[in-house]
Amino acid sequence: MGSHMSETRISSLPPRSSTDAASDAPSDPSIVTRFAPSPNGKMHLGHAFSAVLAHDLAKEAGGIFLLRIEDIDGARSRPELADDFRRNLEWLGLEWDEVPAQSTRLSTYEAAASDLAERGLLYPCTCTRKEIEAIGAQQGADGLIYPGTCKGQNCDPDRPAALRLNVEAAMREVGEVVWTDETAGAVIADPREFGDVVLVRKDAPASYHLAATLDDAADGMTLVTRGEDLFAATHIHRILQELLRLPVPHCHHHALLLDTDGKKLAKRRGSPALSERRIGGEDGLMLAEQLRLHKLKGGILL
Ligand SMILES: [Zn+2]
Repeated sequence: MGSHMSETRISSLPPRSSTDAASDAPSDPSIVTRFAPSPNGKMHLGHAFSAVLAHDLAKEAGGIFLLRIEDIDGARSRPELADDFRRNLEWLGLEWDEVPAQSTRLSTYEAAASDLAERGLLYPCTCTRKEIEAIGAQQGADGLIYPGTCKGQNCDPDRPAALRLNVEAAMREVGEVVWTDETAGAVIADPREFGDVVLVRKDAPASYHLAATLDDAADGMTLVTRGEDLFAATHIHRILQELLRLPVPHCHHHALLLDTDGKKLAKRRGSPALSERRIGGEDGLMLAEQLRLHKLKGGILL
């Protein structure tokens, strides 16, 4: 640490509301992007590609690139891994402002969930993964599509319950909504690939979908960049934006870096940690340039 870039971070910046994002922004806020990693594993090349892309889209337009640590998964998140991400971003030559980590925003998530629950849009679900598998649920965009077993039922109060979005009721409330992807163009939100998603987990006050949607609004995001593996999640996020009356950012879903087998780079598949390359003396600026030029896309050098 101790480079010039540590001064550009604003770790105590409070979450911005959608209305004051423009007034306290340090420069032209016309484009605000973010890199939002979960510190439950080390940063790998796929993360770096995503970060460089979001950074450049903002900086080339005189906009703002934010880092948000998505550490809502308290049991698996580790502060030293968040630091690993920061050090690697520095090494890649990126400049960012850091907004508060998700673990500091839990009351915002709870308030939004209460609002939805009071409007009758959530219901408790005590099903375990095994139970959902046993019903023969269909595979959707993000795992099994929950068949709605607990909807309209009285759950056993002694079993831990998640809260699911009643997608049918939500769609009745919002009607047809559209979102815009930089490549796919206008997309009609259709959350049926997800079924009734979990918004409040059994072990956390929000799921990824609820937390990320609220944070993007609070941070004044105008352009959400993420891998195309999360394309379908935007259907859900768009419905949540409408239900919670949040501003609607544009989306840029980018292609994923693939390894030499043509499979998505992922830490669980043994993709090498970026920090090993950094500590090994590799030039981070050069690596960022290679990523910019898509030289690593397909058959990449591992
Ligand atoms: Zn259930």
